[in-house]
Amino acid sequence: MAKIAINIATGSLQQEEMIVGIDLGTTNSLVAIIHPETKQAVALKEHNTSSLVPSVIHFDENGNIVVGEEAKNQLISQPQNTIFSAKRLMGKSYDDIKTNASFFSYKVIDDNTDSLVKVQVGSKFYTPIDLSSFILKELKQRAEHILKTPVNKAVITVPAYFNDAQRQATRDAGKLAGLDVLRIVNEPTAASLAYGIGMNKEEEKTIAVYDLGGGTFDISILKISNGVFEVLSTNGDTYLGGDDMDKAIVHYWLEKAGLTEADLVSNKEFAQALRLKAEEAKIALSSQEEFISELNGDTLSLSKAQFETLIQPLVDKTVTCCKNALKDAELKKQDIDVIVMVGGSTRVPLVKQSISNFFGKPVNDSVNPDEVVALGAAIQSDILAGNNKDVLLLDVTPLSLGIETMGGLMDVLIPRNSKIPSKASRQYTTQKDGQGGMRISVFQGERDMVKDNRRLAEFNLTGIPGMPAGLPKVEVSFMINADGILSVKAKELRSGVEQSIDVKSQYGLTDEDLEKMLLDSITHAKDDIALRALVEARTEAEQLLTTTEKFIQKNTALLSKEEMITTAAAMQALQLAITMEDKDLVHTKIEELNNISRPYAERIMDEAIAVAMKGRTV
Ligand code: AMP
Repeated sequence: MAKIAINIATGSLQQEEMIVGIDLGTTNSLVAIIHPETKQAVALKEHNTSSLVPSVIHFDENGNIVVGEEAKNQLISQPQNTIFSAKRLMGKSYDDIKTNASFFSYKVIDDNTDSLVKVQVGSKFYTPIDLSSFILKELKQRAEHILKTPVNKAVITVPAYFNDAQRQATRDAGKLAGLDVLRIVNEPTAASLAYGIGMNKEEEKTIAVYDLGGGTFDISILKISNGVFEVLSTNGDTYLGGDDMDKAIVHYWLEKAGLTEADLVSNKEFAQALRLKAEEAKIALSSQEEFISELNGDTLSLSKAQFETLIQPLVDKTVTCCKNALKDAELKKQDIDVIVMVGGSTRVPLVKQSISNFFGKPVNDSVNPDEVVALGAAIQSDILAGNNKDVLLLDVTPLSLGIETMGGLMDVLIPRNSKIPSKASRQYTTQKDGQGGMRISVFQGERDMVKDNRRLAEFNLTGIPGMPAGLPKVEVSFMINADGILSVKAKELRSGVEQSIDVKSQYGLTDEDLEKMLLDSITHAKDDIALRALVEARTEAEQLLTTTEKFIQKNTALLSKEEMITTAAAMQALQLAITMEDKDLVHTKIEELNNISRPYAERIMDEAIAVAMKGRTV
């Protein structure tokens, strides 16, 4: 039975199934929908308030949880029980964040393991998933209050560089908040959609999405063709944003007043007031030439020219990231057709000018940069609701995915930068006679040896019926769904025995990790190739030794004494070659053993066939 709801504000009937788009941001979050009448994407807000909900959670002494503006007001006075930037902890272990641990003024638990971080507030522990779910719950309630209808389904955006664990964590947070998360969408993809890019099937464009928020910066290069969005590259700095501009102003004022950082540490209220004034100045200078104000009887002033000098190094850093992103995408700046501006800090005129100058084109800044991602998420939810069947959205995997094969080699099933959703399968077999199980270890990374990559998961395929080595056919299938979440299945095709898992990596990769893994793969490419060749030669040699030995045992009676002696000598020489680091030597010895055994093997096979054929007519 279909249920309907009545919008009490307008008296109109509404469908119960409302899919909302959610931008779950590091600093601010918001919800957008497609307006049922105008069919335009709009951000939800109460009368006379902002659509932005600060991504801050405050736990008061009575155990109540407050989210948003009210929580943000407690940041300075109650730092231990007011949590900001929870998104930075999603899918991370303490090891991942320890270099930035001082950034968090609340207690992030260091339990010296690889396990996921937790945050301690009073005597309770919260995972980043719990924390994000509190924000999502608040967003859901606000949306329900404004829309006067239940909100159960959502599309949530994440940075393009989020890995599997971080996407899973975001999805789980949605689930905890009572939301059915229909799709996890990349933020730059959503921002492009909000500009209508990708809505036309014939369109082919290369897009740069420049996202400078309060605390983070990222640049993504996307390509849209045939209604498919591909992320060609991402780059950025997870600790660079508008807050750094505020800090630069604070330091400038401190210096002018003959004060130092120590004066801020000793007077927290003064520090906070000065920081707020700095932000006020920055925002004012986006639309005027001069800022003059006063604090505790002292005049504070800043000209636009001075402000621009202060922030030039920060802007330059973002330009360097743009260059790196272009390089990774193997593109020149002239190849970029569209530049999309995202994040509150792109309102700064110097930022817009510098980026426009760098790419040699005007930037797209007509959509509110704070809302653009959520608006795109709403458009995506409309597509999922079946209202725009022409559009298909695809992203790519940031790192290769594969399994460990003999000798610790990485066998890639889904290469890096494959479009998702994606599927791949390959057949493997057993090494030993009667082998009843097979260990499937799933790795992510670009190196040839699994030990240099990251292990995502491991499971055993058991119950393979006894068969000679090489006979079972184990098909391993990888499937990445549209959210970038991997599931792995192993099936023995002769017996139908199968086993599957959803890969939930134990810990996440930071974007630095990601970059390092890619860089390592380039730096070590030569060593890797040499090592892979050696491992492959050794594996081949071991297999040849096993089959030769079996063959001799079975056919001793049919071999001459001389054949036995030369074979044994060649086997010994090959055995010795395996212990050395020389793949060419292994190949030579394989060849020698083959040359000795091939003639008698053929002879014996021919005799066997002749015996089998005796008495039969062809
Ligand atoms: P976001 O993380 O995208 O919400 O961006 C928030 C950042 O944008 C904060 O650092 C704000 O101070 C900054 N911001 C917002 N409005 C303006 C403006 N008009 N000019 C300069 N910066 C702004």
